[in-house]
Amino acid sequence: MKRVVVAGMGFAGVRAARALAGQGMEVLLVDRHNYHLFQPLLYQVATAGLEQESIAYPVRAMARNWPGTRFILAEITGADLDARTLRTSAGTIPYDYLVVGGGSVTNYFGNDAIARHSFDLKKLSDAEQLRNHILWSCERAVAETDPDKRRALMTFVIVGGGPTGVEFAGALIELVRYVLSKDYPELQAREARIILVEAAERLLLAMPEKLSAYGAEKLHRMGVELLFGRRVVGASGEQVELDGGEIIRAHTLFWSAGVRAAPLAEALGLPAGPGGRVPVLPDLTVEGRPELFVVGDMAHVVQDGQPLPMVAPVAMQMGVYAARAILAREWGRPLGPFRYRDKGSMATIGKSAAVAVSHGLNLRGYPAWLAWLLLHLYYLIGFRNRILVMLNWSWYYWFHERQVRLITDCERSVEKVE
Ligand SMILES: Cc1cc2nc3c(=O)[nH]c(=O)nc-3n(C[C@H](O)[C@H](O)[C@H](O)COP(=O)(O)OP(=O)(O)OC[C@H]3O[C@@H](n4cnc5c(N)ncnc54)[C@H](O)[C@@H]3O)c2cc1C
Repeated sequence: MKRVVVAGMGFAGVRAARALAGQGMEVLLVDRHNYHLFQPLLYQVATAGLEQESIAYPVRAMARNWPGTRFILAEITGADLDARTLRTSAGTIPYDYLVVGGGSVTNYFGNDAIARHSFDLKKLSDAEQLRNHILWSCERAVAETDPDKRRALMTFVIVGGGPTGVEFAGALIELVRYVLSKDYPELQAREARIILVEAAERLLLAMPEKLSAYGAEKLHRMGVELLFGRRVVGASGEQVELDGGEIIRAHTLFWSAGVRAAPLAEALGLPAGPGGRVPVLPDLTVEGRPELFVVGDMAHVVQDGQPLPMVAPVAMQMGVYAARAILAREWGRPLGPFRYRDKGSMATIGKSAAVAVSHGLNLRGYPAWLAWLLLHLYYLIGFRNRILVMLNWSWYYWFHERQVRLITDCERSVEKVE
């Protein structure tokens, strides 16, 4: 029986594994985490809206329903591509086919100071650490008598006006205005500053201008300060430096201004294209290696003159395609090249406010928010997770309360630890 190794159980890996299960092949699933993480909702864990368990799902719980699959919890450290073996912390794993979906990491564009003194959202622990830090900043602000220091503790700078930056900014201002203002009556809600810095002249560049303008207007009315055409060039943990030398005193810097392919691509010795992503052929294999598929954020595919974005729908479609390509080859059937079918994109801004574009249709406000809600619930893995998330969202919708206001690690929350 031929063996397929699926390296990485993100959006692409899970789809590939599901499509390969029960098809007469041995399927080995490898990941450094024993769960699949729903990254698009990490910002809600960071802003005390969701418990971390509700956006993660154990791989073994999925695998037990997928005939012929087995999970190995291991760090993948390298490969011998000629010998078709993967090196992992759990030993060497031979394969006939390899599907690599290692995802991406935050790109700081070589700025070490920003990397050291900013928060990002990629892992569950990042979200918990950021939530701890936000709540700790409030605790410290309450005890602070110097008004300048107090203001710096309550100033949050967000870099990047893409969906992650916009969603985080909206969720954070709602947390401060509706929830923390009640928890900390000593702090004036208006003392808190949330500043979103975007290098371009508008938010949500992938969306039509009208929707960007709606998003910006909505955030502005909610109290988020928007700085367009500006860049953050430095950080020290107590202040943030903008291009032109302007300094903002702020203890929190959230970086969502770029991603690059996961280091796994380099560890496997794969060719590197823009952003470290691996250039692949139209069937998602690496040139000269017909048994090696690269999928999801790690794969660089140009379609209609544009590189495909690093988003979950692209990853899911690539994962399914790679599985089908392997099966087609085994069964001696033809399969056309990979083509991404874009069903649209969306971003939520706050309660009852979102923007969405799908099949040429532009939605904003409540209908877009409802569509966002339903789609995220649909794609979340696990019935219990869906119930938990729905409960938390309903609770917030009706009572303006975020339940997960817990500081779970006091020491690490004060200083970011690498
Ligand atoms: C905060 C945030 C918000 C986002 N919001 C949206 C959104 O609203 N809509 C949208 O479409 N997309 C969104 N995305 C992007 C989306 O999550 C990614 O495009 C998607 O996760 C990519 O899927 P993937 O399978 O390529 O990688 P991932 O889902 O990142 O999975 C990669 C897997 O590989 C594993 N791995 C990596 N290296 C190793 C190694 N060396 N050894 C073992 N295992 C390894 C990881 O543990 C992980 O499980 C968001 C991303 C983030 C971080």
